[in-house]
Amino acid sequence: MKSRIYLDHAATTPVSDAARAAVVKALGLTGNPSSVHGGGRAANALLESARDAVAHFAGVAAENIVFTSGGTEAIALAANGARLSGPVRPRLLVGATEHSAVLQARDHAQLLPVDGDGLIDLAALAAALKDCPALVAVQAANNETGVIQPLEKVAALVREAGGLLLVDAVQAAGKMALPDADFIALSAHKLGGPPGVGALIVRDPESLIAIQRGGGQERGHRGGTPNLPGIAGFAAAVAESHDWTAVAARRIALETRLKAGGALIHGEAAPRLPTISSIGLGGVAASTQVMMLDLDGFMVSAGAACSSGKVKSSHVLAAMGLGPAAGEAIRVSLSPATTDAEIDAFAAAWLAMAARLGRKGAA
Ligand code: PLP
Repeated sequence: MKSRIYLDHAATTPVSDAARAAVVKALGLTGNPSSVHGGGRAANALLESARDAVAHFAGVAAENIVFTSGGTEAIALAANGARLSGPVRPRLLVGATEHSAVLQARDHAQLLPVDGDGLIDLAALAAALKDCPALVAVQAANNETGVIQPLEKVAALVREAGGLLLVDAVQAAGKMALPDADFIALSAHKLGGPPGVGALIVRDPESLIAIQRGGGQERGHRGGTPNLPGIAGFAAAVAESHDWTAVAARRIALETRLKAGGALIHGEAAPRLPTISSIGLGGVAASTQVMMLDLDGFMVSAGAACSSGKVKSSHVLAAMGLGPAAGEAIRVSLSPATTDAEIDAFAAAWLAMAARLGRKGAA
């Protein structure tokens, strides 16, 4: 069988050896962290040492970590549980290129526009914050383009207006420094940990009420027996470090080759993650590109894949003003394990596809 090359690490990336070992070890423990007997105490000790590891990674105290079932739940918890003062949820302002986990977290969020490179419109944010304080959700880096938002400027505006800042750092975590924010969402399966576990970093635990109450776990912020094997794997994954400079160099080399064959790199002028490239081929539907590359043995994704596996036109690229080209881009995402040979093979396959199919591209 033809070997297959995985270039979809932004969707999920392999569980690292250390994370796998930590999961297996934790599965061998019998005890609920809430139980007072020896088994419970051992489980609780593992839970708290994992919390310390994630807190160390995030540069915060252990009490600022709330473990969740992943990035989506961490975002939903902050979007619905954040409180400025009093019992009422603050207004929610969200960037137009946010992940659907943010866009769908609440009804009636106000969208903030982005420019042609996907960067948040700071003037629009300042204007929207004038009316009354709000919870503002702006991602650290985009999952389709890798574009990194100017979070220091965003945070300054939010602070000045007396609001709260929620940052979806699911793609950025482990690849760049975490921002200064009131709430930061993380997900283990994007950084070498197992799926189904994540965390919300909460600057002031008093500013968050539980959405899922139950048995009062996570200091009352998230009821339910914690996923201890997952959390142990998450903690092992965040302790690992990688050479992102080499990954960025590979991504840039790939983009240079593909541009010579007619590719458009979306968000190219903005600061971007080392790992993600949004590659457009004019006149060719993203779904066609993904299928052709899959037949050639390359696993990449279209900008946005919904849970049914169908390819939709990208709301991210549409918000960047791309028009019909929003449905003509694929996402290629690398990991530290991606090799030069894999990049070479992919570039050759993409250029051959573009020569066959591209109308505005490399005809
Ligand atoms: N936010 C971003 C930017 C993502 O890329 C993802 C996953 O694709 C999520 C949130 C959701 O994370 P999870 O899969 O852990 O629920």
